[in-house]
Amino acid sequence: DGGDLVLYYQPQIDLASGTVIGVEALVRWPQAGSTPIPPDEFIYIAEHTGLIRPLTRLVLDLAVAQAKRWRDQGRDLRMSLNLSPHNLIEPGIVDTIAATLAAASVPPDRVMMELTESTVMANPKRTLGVLHELRELGVGIAIDDFGTGHSSLAYLTTLPATELKIDKSFVLAIGADPTADSIVRSVIDLGRNLDLGVIAEGVETQAQADRLVELGCVEAQGYLYSRPVPPEQIPATLRRLNQAWLRPLASATQ
Ligand code: C2E
Ligand code: CA
Ligand code: CA
Repeated sequence: DGGDLVLYYQPQIDLASGTVIGVEALVRWPQAGSTPIPPDEFIYIAEHTGLIRPLTRLVLDLAVAQAKRWRDQGRDLRMSLNLSPHNLIEPGIVDTIAATLAAASVPPDRVMMELTESTVMANPKRTLGVLHELRELGVGIAIDDFGTGHSSLAYLTTLPATELKIDKSFVLAIGADPTADSIVRSVIDLGRNLDLGVIAEGVETQAQADRLVELGCVEAQGYLYSRPVPPEQIPATLRRLNQAWLRPLASATQ
């Protein structure tokens, strides 16, 4: 209500071409004269006080408004958002998302909803219905923190997901821990066999990125490319990543 929460954006990279394909919106709560409160902390509290619904609505509004601003400038960045388990049992959540996107003329297929594997597993029956509605709307669905949620492969194949996001604990251990290497390789193969996109999060070193390319990973995100930054730093960040300011939109007049 105080208008304190803001969104930072972290680029997601196509490993083969180096192109920035999109950004993940990550909420921040800056504190005057002090370090920001980590989202893990206040999201947890929001989830246990009923505040996660208004929080998610705010994040949705801010991210879609930003996507619209970039689109109005001819910049077509896919926007990824995080949803909580509580959002999936919220009546009308898909209608709200649809209406917000429509009001801003942001095409649903340029938006990705990230749900952690444990979220999806928390209430499989209910979740499945909402995920199908989201897919019908046309938004992408990424299974976040993949590899940590103990989902059965049989269940996974029934999910209408479009992307697996390999948890950073495995990505950060590539090269150092042979088990992590095997897990990352298995997730990449699984994604390929199920026809899902695969993105690695938490890529911090060039050696990790090189290994991911060897293993056939398509997309990556991490401090190697950029930390999450406020929206006004996105143009400079993309320039540093050697992007001509993205594909111009056909409709854009600039
Ligand atoms: P997440 O969705 O798994 O987000 C990835 C986290 O990894 C982010 O932390 C990001 O800053 C961090 N990260 C990115 N690249 C690297 C890297 O190369 N190395 C390392 N060590 N970390 C990296 P952040 O922003 O602190 O967010 C933490 C968690 O808070 C998120 O995890 C997500 O679960 C939650 N969160 C953040 N924003 C939102 C939101 O708008 N809604 C909801 N429901 N949850 C959110
Ligand atoms: Ca995420
Ligand atoms: Ca994650």
